[in-house]
Amino acid sequence: METVEPRHARRSQVETLRAAGLRITGPRLAILRLLQHDTNHPTAEQVFRRLRSRYPSLSLATVYNTLTAFARRGLCRRVPPFEGPQRFDGMLDPHHHALCTGCGRLFDVPVEVYGLPPPPAELGDGLSVHGVQLTFQVLCASCQAEAAGGGDRGKADHTVQPTHEEV
Ligand SMILES: [Zn+2]
Ligand SMILES: [Zn+2]
Repeated sequence: METVEPRHARRSQVETLRAAGLRITGPRLAILRLLQHDTNHPTAEQVFRRLRSRYPSLSLATVYNTLTAFARRGLCRRVPPFEGPQRFDGMLDPHHHALCTGCGRLFDVPVEVYGLPPPPAELGDGLSVHGVQLTFQVLCASCQAEAAGGGDRGKADHTVQPTHEEV
């Protein structure tokens, strides 16, 4: 389902690409828009699957390269997975993450929930710091419910589905 977007949001995406020195293309705008509205920290393949009907010539490699270019220029962030494919995060406001060790879903946690002292500007070895984030290890509400239910009841098919509509 397509959400109608305010005009200024689209303009700012064009401006974002332009400011990053990236050529403006339909797929790039679509990838950026998707990232900015998806709180599920999608993988390149998930982004690809959601856009390929609209952009039939788009390849997974192009999506991955675009996400990598975005990450290098600060338009999104790679979020460290404990396992599995690389995930990307278009929410650039500072926030921590909580990874459910039961189902692998990654949740955003506002920094107000758990403040940290400001990090040093540099860590030596030429590492300049532009942020700090934590990854909490959690059990999400549905995994807790499943654990509490015990036994076979919740066993049927516990796959994680994105909570948003497929594009
Ligand atoms: Zn869970
Ligand atoms: Zn996030």
